[in-house]
Amino acid sequence: MPHTGQFEIHGMESVMLSAGTLLQVTRIACRCMRCHRQFTATERHGLIDLDGGAVLTCPACSNRQAMCRESLSGYHSLPC
Ligand SMILES: [Zn+2]
Repeated sequence: MPHTGQFEIHGMESVMLSAGTLLQVTRIACRCMRCHRQFTATERHGLIDLDGGAVLTCPACSNRQAMCRESLSGYHSLPC
């Protein structure tokens, strides 16, 4: 499984532009590397979509990490 350092990414749902460019991340299924809580983050529920990336927050231990759009683009092939 790919991971970002703080989170192991299991799947991702996103809005893509036709050019294959990531427009917005809508859902990320992941596991926290610190407390091992598995959760699905959605907008305002552990996932903040930023222009240029996203911030994931663990609901159990508040572990968080910002990810740039470039690294997120690599996960869009993983079904959520
Ligand atoms: Zn956690």
